[in-house]
Amino acid sequence: MSRKGEPALPEPALRALPSVHYLLQTDDAARLVARYSRETVRAAVREHLADLRIKMRRADSPPLPFEEARFFAEIENRLQDRDASRLQRVINATGIVLHTNLGRAPLAAVAADAARNAALGYLNLEMDLVSGQRGARGGQTEELICRLTGAEAAIVVNNNAAGVLLALGTLIGETASGEAGEVIVSRGELVEIGGSFRIPDVIHQSGARLVEAGATNRTRLSDYRKAITAQTRALLKVHASNYRIVGFTEDVGILELVALGRETGIPVMEDLGSGALIDLSRLGLPKEPTAGDAITAGVDVVAFSGDKLLGGPQCGILAGKETTIRAMGRHPLFRALRVDKMTLAALEATLRLYEDMEQLRESLPILCMLTATPETLTRRARRLRAALTAAAPGFEIQIADSIGYSGGGTLPEIGLPSKVVRIRPAPGKTSTANSVEEIAETLRRRGEPPVIGVLADGWFTLDVRTMTDDDLRAVARSFRTLFSPNTRTGNTA
Ligand SMILES: *Cc1c(COP(=O)(O)O)cnc(C)c1O
Repeated sequence: MSRKGEPALPEPALRALPSVHYLLQTDDAARLVARYSRETVRAAVREHLADLRIKMRRADSPPLPFEEARFFAEIENRLQDRDASRLQRVINATGIVLHTNLGRAPLAAVAADAARNAALGYLNLEMDLVSGQRGARGGQTEELICRLTGAEAAIVVNNNAAGVLLALGTLIGETASGEAGEVIVSRGELVEIGGSFRIPDVIHQSGARLVEAGATNRTRLSDYRKAITAQTRALLKVHASNYRIVGFTEDVGILELVALGRETGIPVMEDLGSGALIDLSRLGLPKEPTAGDAITAGVDVVAFSGDKLLGGPQCGILAGKETTIRAMGRHPLFRALRVDKMTLAALEATLRLYEDMEQLRESLPILCMLTATPETLTRRARRLRAALTAAAPGFEIQIADSIGYSGGGTLPEIGLPSKVVRIRPAPGKTSTANSVEEIAETLRRRGEPPVIGVLADGWFTLDVRTMTDDDLRAVARSFRTLFSPNTRTGNTA
């Protein structure tokens, strides 16, 4: 029946659609139920039938004969896509070690175990086992940070952005006149770290008024001095992290800034960002200022990330003078920004690794990756090329040089020479992939685990710096399943 003015429904075609009950009894459905649950498959069948009905009702749609095999292939794609969008482990073949979109630092095994143990049971989170009394949350962790940086006190919050917010919020306090307290920052350091973290915005959020000193490329100590007023509550130095100003430049070192702070009685804070705890140049990497350098220089507080160069879980660390840090721990914001038991457990285990410097390079995954030698990278690339070549014919597969990055706004302009294995459908030959885009998309959506590589210069590239031996095997396995002519079941379209 159709009401006036509406196109007539192709009723016979609609009526010819099989029922949900019938479809769920087919072999195709049984195959899906073995992998997903009956409820999931039932819901997907219902949804897909409803979509089909809508399509068939469209006046301009061509007649759509119902094909059972195709119907289930489409449902399988739907379910696989849903599966692929859950949070899951992926293979990072980008060569970017601290990839923010991929969760930054992979944890050391002992740190992951510590988080797992904390997750599965109870722990002495706020209890001193020696006295049996209530203890400070994270007391052990804070002591470790102090030992490793030379700071008098430390606290841990959710991330470095939270740390900067809390530190500024505490330093600003209230001015006698009720006006906003001022924070002085060099114009060359008003950076955006990525996404939503811009230094000027965070200063604003903390309730402080930003006072800019100097010019974008040059700031001198006299510029800070000129900017100081009765309302000044902090001198802030920000590590430029993800960019460098080159050419005619000048900035004020932390030592000079600390001297000015002492002279004027104004606290000095450094937002270090990357959070190196050790001098990376000892491992042949570029020199990065460490948290200990800031403490030695005499800052009142230094803020840094736990999941950048420190190689731990996502968190932010504030370290510095006892009275300053204690005030931050008492600020009402602290309760809102504090970390959970799994993070603390993982951080503590990560920090303990730093007590054995001999082993550190091996035990901390990010240092292992950042310091991988050309020989290791070449050996890994050869193994991956061999495994991929054996997995599927019809592809051109080569080893090439590339530049990887530390990522996460750390060691910015320094590229790390690396090796990639690059793939494209072999020109003039039959291949199971039509394009490099298809290779990238199929491995990303259907790889087990999903593989994240890079498209560059007409190739799909896999950088081996960020891949483990297990990853190499998993990529080759996925490549065979998805691209070998014998096993390939369908594309992702
Ligand atoms: C990365 C970074 C931040 C933000 O740290 P998160 O841990 O991502 O919150 C802040 N400041 C600087 C200088 C940074 O490099």
